[in-house]
Amino acid sequence: MKSFTQELIFNTSSRQEFMNITPQVESALKKSGIKDGLCLVNPMHITASVFINDDEPGLHKDFASWLEKLAPFGKDKYQHNLGGEDNADAHLKRTIMGREVVVAITDGKLHFGPWEQIFYGEFDGRRKKRVLIKIIGE
Ligand code: ZN
Repeated sequence: MKSFTQELIFNTSSRQEFMNITPQVESALKKSGIKDGLCLVNPMHITASVFINDDEPGLHKDFASWLEKLAPFGKDKYQHNLGGEDNADAHLKRTIMGREVVVAITDGKLHFGPWEQIFYGEFDGRRKKRVLIKIIGE
């Protein structure tokens, strides 16, 4: 069995952002040389998500407004922020959108369903964040 590990680094210009990282994951898969196996992608931070969905701008705006209703930004709204932080909403948004994705690899390609793409969801950006890609297989 082969194993391949790579980290991606992001520093978004806005606090909250969704980025399609499918090309970066496909490039890591190509480098790995693995044709059949599994690919794990997860952020190394508790205020960011990796998730799979459609690359459709309207949907991304819907995600953003839905998340803002569920966990609105606000320093005085949360227990977590009593210690001086302001990112309680980002922890909650990350939990809603999920930590990681695992995608099957078949014939050297990410074996997606229709319209599936991999996204990095940033909820407390404007600082350096890492995303781990781990690929195992033959
Ligand atoms: Zn925090």
